[in-house]
Amino acid sequence: MSNNTLMHIKRLLTDSYPPSLEGELAENVELAELHDDIWALREILRAFANDDFSVDVKRSGVVFDNLRTLQEHINSIFILMQLVEQGNFSQQYPLTNSFAVAFNRMMSQFDSTLSSMKDGERALQERESHLKYLADHDPLTGLMNRRAFMERVLGALRMAALKGVSCGIMMIDIDFFKKFNDTYGHLAGDEALKHVAEVIGRAMRTDDFLGRYGGEEFMFFFYKADKKTGVAIAERLRRTLVNSPVPLDVGTVSLAASFGLAMASDVEATVIDEKFIEKLIKNADIALYQAKNTGRNKVVAF
Ligand code: GH3
Ligand code: MG
Ligand code: MG
Repeated sequence: MSNNTLMHIKRLLTDSYPPSLEGELAENVELAELHDDIWALREILRAFANDDFSVDVKRSGVVFDNLRTLQEHINSIFILMQLVEQGNFSQQYPLTNSFAVAFNRMMSQFDSTLSSMKDGERALQERESHLKYLADHDPLTGLMNRRAFMERVLGALRMAALKGVSCGIMMIDIDFFKKFNDTYGHLAGDEALKHVAEVIGRAMRTDDFLGRYGGEEFMFFFYKADKKTGVAIAERLRRTLVNSPVPLDVGTVSLAASFGLAMASDVEATVIDEKFIEKLIKNADIALYQAKNTGRNKVVAF
């Protein structure tokens, strides 16, 4: 190999702008092939260095075969990164090279961590909504408890005031319930309370709502109704209750309740707050007391 040949090969490997094959060197077929190989190698490496891994490595031989493999590895990294970018952690990349294997392992680890985190979050949300349900509901009847009912009444009263709509509440107290308990037992009494909640719940209009005030007392809010309509609603509920005896093991047993009704418009207050509700309930209580004292199983409006 002549000095010129060696120099040419060296420059091919080292120079930024190496000479093309010219003159007597160009007549050497083997040198021309070597020149082309090194030239191709330069071009491929330049493409890689410039972030272009799509270049077609066409030539054969161990150097180019290895370059192709390297190119495949790098391209597989890109594909895997795209999967991650799309949030796809569950897909395994079908390659056996060490990077892909490590990557797949990392992704499945990540995927299972993520899904157990989601499971945990879901369980926490379910628990939270269950706790909220428990905090707002009476466990026996499933109705809103007193506190939740009051909260809802406050919102409904404010909405009614905003819309200029007439509304009110009624206090419903089961008649002679102590006697019912004494006669049929406390468990039967519990069944009766559930029954009353169901019967009234089924009979009420969509905007109205019912809560358990405590013991055998229920509270009912009615919306978009004046006193006359409120009394008519209460009468209908009272009759429905009388006509829906409680199914017990010993047979069906009739129940009745007294209703004390009060209109929001009769409360002398300008601000709708807890105090307003207190006065409203006090009025309903006075009406209920009167219903109890004048024969029970009846509706009295304040
Ligand atoms: P009145 O017609 O004047 O309302 O008479 P009453 O017997 O219904 O009223 P009183 O207040 O004397 O009795 C209420 C009864 O309700 C007494 C109590 O044991 C019963 N009670 C309250 N809460 C429950 C409950 O959750 N389950 C059962 N089974 N009974 C209850
Ligand atoms: Mg009572
Ligand atoms: Mg009672």
